Parts: sequence; C-alpha cells; structure tokens
Amino acid sequence: MTHCIFCKIASGEIPSAVVYDDEHVVAFRDLNPHAPTHVLVVPRRHIPTLNDLAPADAELVGRMYLAAREVARQEGIAETGYRTVFNCNADAGQTVFHLHLHVLGGRSMIWPPG
Ligand code: 5GP
Ligand code: ZN
Repeated sequence: MTHCIFCKIASGEIPSAVVYDDEHVVAFRDLNPHAPTHVLVVPRRHIPTLNDLAPADAELVGRMYLAAREVARQEGIAETGYRTVFNCNADAGQTVFHLHLHVLGGRSMIWPPG
C-alpha cells in the first residue's frame, strides 16, 4: 500500500521511534501518546482492519501479542500492568487503516473505556 503511513513506518521510509521489530512485526511509539508508554505493534504486511484477518493470519496475530509482551517487559510495565487494544472501524475510533495493536501502560486506567 503506497499511501499507507504505517506501511511506510514499517519499511523505514518514514522514521519513527522503533522499540521492537522482527521479520513479521514492527513496534514503535505512538506520535500522540495517551500514556507514559504508548506503543503500536503493526504487521509488516498491510492489513486494513481486524475484519480483514483470515484464519491463516492466526500466527501473525499471536506474534503481535508476543511483541506486545516483549515491549511491556522492555518498558518495565509488565508487572504494574498494561492494556492492549485493537480499534476496529468508526465506532471504536480507528483512524489509521493498517492493523495495529495499542500497548498502553505506565499509569492506571479506567474501565470500561469511553
Ligand atoms: P487508531 O485511532 O487508528 O486506533 O490509532 C492510530 C494511532 O496512530 C493514534 O494513536 C495516532 O496517534 C497514531 N499515529 C497516527 N499517525 C502516526 C504517525 O505518523 N506516527 C506514529 N508514530 N503514530 C501515528
Ligand atoms: Zn499499511
């Protein structure tokens, strides 16, 4: 996807603060953080939303969560706690249509979310 901002970040075409990456996923700091730690984990491959996942992507989604776990460990929030969120489409407030898993921590959070 030539016009996708997260594809460009994942490929390194646009610089970002990468905190973890491997063959399948890249994790970088959110530009507008909502918590002391706010990292986005994205697949290198362009997938617009959670609705576009196929059964064959099961391992990729698992890798996204393993990356989130590693980010939490690195950031020192694994034990204090953190939240992982996929926003899907308009009602959830998705604004970037390249699948991303938010990893938020470093402060206490309320539930349910707004
Ligand atoms: P969404 O609302 O789609 O779940 O989350 C998109 C997130 O991407 C937002 O938290 C927003 O701050 C972040 N974001 C949007 N554009 C950029 C960018 O160019 N760089 C980085 N690092 N984050 C971005
Ligand atoms: Zn993309």
